Amino acid sequence: MKYDAVVVGAGVAGLNAAYVLASKGFKIAIIESKPRSRIGDKTCGDAIGLHHFDELGWKPPSDAIDHYYKGVKIYSPSEKYSIPVPGEGISVNRIKFGQWLLKRAEEEGAELLDKHVVLDVEYDEGGVKALKVKKIGKPGLLRIEAKAFIDASGSKPAIRSRLPEEWPIAERPYMTDYNIAYREVVELPKPISEEDREYAVIYLNTVIAPGGYWWLFPKDPSGRIVNVGLGVIWGVDEYNPRRNYDIYLRKRFTGKLIHAGGGIIPTRRPLPTLVWRNLGAVGDAAYTVNPVHGGGIGSSLLAAKIVGEYMAKALEEGRIDEKAMWDANIEYLRLYGAKQASLDILRMYLQKLSNDDFEWIIKEKVVDGSKIYELGSKGSLVDTVVHGVTRLVKLMRRPSLLNQLRIVKNYMDKAVKLYYDKYPEDPSGIHDWMKRVEEFLWEYRRTIGFEPGSKVKW
Ligand SMILES: Cc1cc2nc3c(=O)[nH]c(=O)nc-3n(C[C@H](O)[C@H](O)[C@H](O)COP(=O)(O)OP(=O)(O)OC[C@H]3O[C@@H](n4cnc5c(N)ncnc54)[C@H](O)[C@@H]3O)c2cc1C
Repeated sequence: MKYDAVVVGAGVAGLNAAYVLASKGFKIAIIESKPRSRIGDKTCGDAIGLHHFDELGWKPPSDAIDHYYKGVKIYSPSEKYSIPVPGEGISVNRIKFGQWLLKRAEEEGAELLDKHVVLDVEYDEGGVKALKVKKIGKPGLLRIEAKAFIDASGSKPAIRSRLPEEWPIAERPYMTDYNIAYREVVELPKPISEEDREYAVIYLNTVIAPGGYWWLFPKDPSGRIVNVGLGVIWGVDEYNPRRNYDIYLRKRFTGKLIHAGGGIIPTRRPLPTLVWRNLGAVGDAAYTVNPVHGGGIGSSLLAAKIVGEYMAKALEEGRIDEKAMWDANIEYLRLYGAKQASLDILRMYLQKLSNDDFEWIIKEKVVDGSKIYELGSKGSLVDTVVHGVTRLVKLMRRPSLLNQLRIVKNYMDKAVKLYYDKYPEDPSGIHDWMKRVEEFLWEYRRTIGFEPGSKVKW
C-alpha cells in the first residue's frame, strides 16, 4: 500500500494535517486504532480559547460547540478569592468536532484506515520507509509505504518513539514533563452558580491536584452539565488523579455520569524539531500543549497546519527532508512554540509553590486578570508584575517570592530568546542548539531546585 503521505492518529492534529495535505491533491492515508464512530472521542476538558480559530482562519461548526465562556476564573486554594481572566472560549463537543474534521479530510480525498494499529516502523538513515500495521481482528501485518509520514498519535508517539534517540525528532521526555489527568462529565441535580457557568473555572490546590490544578468547565448554559477533573504531575510521589477525584471531588459533583476517563498530557516546551528526514510530528506527539494550563487542541491544530503545508511543499518539489521542511519549525516557534518554552519555565516554578503561596498571591492580587491574559498570550511575565510599584510594595512582604519571581522572569525571557532568536536557521545547527537548551534548563532547574526525575520508558 503506497501513499504520498501517511498520518498516524485521527485526533485533531492528525485530521487537520491530513486535510491540509489532501487538499493539495496528495494521496493520503490516516491510520487510526479506534473505529470510525469513536473518532473524536477523546478524554478532555473540552475548553478552547476562540483566538485559536482566529489564528487558523476557520471556526468549528455550531453543532460542535456545547457552550461559550467569557473567560477563565482562577480560585485560590481556600476558594475564598478568585481572579477572572478575560478571553472568550468555547466548550467543544469532541465527538462532533472530530467527526467534522474527519469528514473535511475525507472530502478532500484522504483515506481513513480505522481499527488499524501501528506496531512497528521500518527506517534507515534516509528516514522512515514503511509502517507495520495490524488491522484489529485480522491476522498478519500490513506494510504501508509512503514518501512521507506524520506522527500525530498523541502522548505515546507510535513512530518517533521507535526511532533512534540521536534523531532530534525522537527526543525522550522526562515523566515530570507530563501531567496525568482524570475527569468526569456529569449531569448535576442542581446547577452551579450563575456566575461560574460563564467561565472555565480553575482551582489551584496542591493537595487535590499537586503539580496541576482541578477544573470545573460547564458544558451547557443551564449550568447542570459539567466537565470536572484534575491533573497532577507525573512521576512524583505516585500521585494518582483518579484517587484524588474520589477523595476530594466526587461528593461535590454527584449526579448522572455521562463520561469518565483519564489521560496524559505533555506540559513542556515543544520538541526540538517538528521535522526530521521524511517525518513530521504534530500535536501531543510533538508536545505542542500549553505547559501552564494544559490546553492542546488549538496548538495541535496550528502545528498540524504548519507541518502539513511544509510537507506538501516538499512533496511538490520532490525533496522531502528536514532541510526542505525546516521553516515549519521557525514558523511554529514564532507563532506559538517560543511562548510555550517560556511558559515551561514558569510551569516548573508553579509546581514548586505551596497552597499558602497561591492563597497569598490571589488574595493580595499580586497578578490581575489582564496580567494573566498577557502572560498567557505573550508567554512573558510582564514587567509590572515584578517591577510595578503597587505590586512591589506587596511583594516586599514576601521578599523570597519577589526574588524568585525576578529569577523566573529572567529565565522566561532567556527561553524566548533561545527558541525565537537563537533557533538554528537550518538543521546543521540543531545538535549544538539542543545542547545549549539542555545546559540552560539544568542551570534553571538547579536554581529553583526542580528535580526532573526519570525519563519516560515508552
Ligand atoms: C484529561 C485531559 C483534559 C484535557 N483538557 C483540555 C482542554 O480543556 N483544552 C484543550 O485544549 N486541551 C485539553 N487537553 C489536551 C488535548 O486533549 C490534546 O492536546 C489534544 O487533543 C491532542 O490532540 P492529538 O491529535 O495530538 O492527540 P490525540 O487526540 O491523543 O490523538 C491521537 C490519536 O492517535 C491514535 N493512536 C495512538 N497510537 C496509535 C497507533 N499505534 N496506531 C494507530 N493509532 C494510534 C489514538 O487512538 C488517537 O485517536 C486535555 C487532555 C486530557 C488528557
